[in-house]
Amino acid sequence: MADECNIKVICRIRPLNEIEERAGSKFIAKFPSDDSVTMGQGKLFMFDKVLKPNITQESVYEVAAKPIVADVLGGYNGTIFAYGQTSSGKTHTMEGVLGDTTKQGIIPRIISDIFQYIYQMDENLEFHIKVSYFEIYMDKIRDLLDITKTNLSVHEDKNRIPYVKGSTERFVSSPEEVFEVIDEGKANRHVAVTNMNEHSSRSHSVFLIQVRQENLETQKKLSGKLYLVDLAGSEKVSKTGCEGTTLDEAKNINKSLSALGNVISALADGNKTHVPYRDSKLTRILQESLGGNARTTMIICCSPASYNESETKSTLMFGQRAK
Ligand code: ADP
Ligand code: MG
Repeated sequence: MADECNIKVICRIRPLNEIEERAGSKFIAKFPSDDSVTMGQGKLFMFDKVLKPNITQESVYEVAAKPIVADVLGGYNGTIFAYGQTSSGKTHTMEGVLGDTTKQGIIPRIISDIFQYIYQMDENLEFHIKVSYFEIYMDKIRDLLDITKTNLSVHEDKNRIPYVKGSTERFVSSPEEVFEVIDEGKANRHVAVTNMNEHSSRSHSVFLIQVRQENLETQKKLSGKLYLVDLAGSEKVSKTGCEGTTLDEAKNINKSLSALGNVISALADGNKTHVPYRDSKLTRILQESLGGNARTTMIICCSPASYNESETKSTLMFGQRAK
């Protein structure tokens, strides 16, 4: 089923961290096989693959992203997103430490791979690569490469394909250049907020890579788009707003994450007539890059700690809806 609709769900369980250990939390994940996991006494969850705590960042890339990169270079669209509660390992998985060959996450590895591919292609192929970087906070799209653009809107092009109108697009010609763009976007993200950790747990960050290629002999053109999304934290927030999260923020996060869940679940059920893309800005933007001919990988990030058992179970349930 997942193969037919091109949605792959991968579950990554991070190691127990120091805070959890010191607080006496237990490691409660069990791995009956390489595609299943249980938490405590709970039920068995099955995915396309379950990645255990000791996996290297390189292997995560190989399993979760590499196949999509090949597709995007072949002219398909794709989306990879990380879902999970705050501190479950989403940013570590998507981004990691840029430029550190062991610690870097999926995004820098994708970028390096795309340029590797281009460098070894024959000279008749001309490539244009551009990147955009924005975040969605309270259903508003903010350009991370131009802080004057704080409320971008979603429009449809001639072919009725939604896109973020007026977002900054940077043409790039080496991995180093892309890393600089990412650093610039991250610095801009810091500027507008007082507490970055809180902010990043309440907003979705979206990095878009567009690859266009033209065969100079045959004039044949191909283009592919890849969305890389580090989602807002999925934890339940109490109505009074825990840790400073306002009720409005909480409602907004819940709304966009459940819109995403509904879209993925409709696609996984093969329900092509009514996929509720229009229910959030996030799903509208991703419309052409989710389902259909597009390749989607969802990485479900989990803490293995007993302390997080109930949150982790709802994370696993979310992932299961796509199967
Ligand atoms: P999130 O983005 O989901 O809030 P982070 O990716 O920031 O979570 O992870 C929280 C902390 O745990 C970070 O310090 C990160 O480096 C660490 N961490 C997350 N996943 C792993 C992992 N698989 N191995 C080692 N450290 C990890
Ligand atoms: Mg994060």
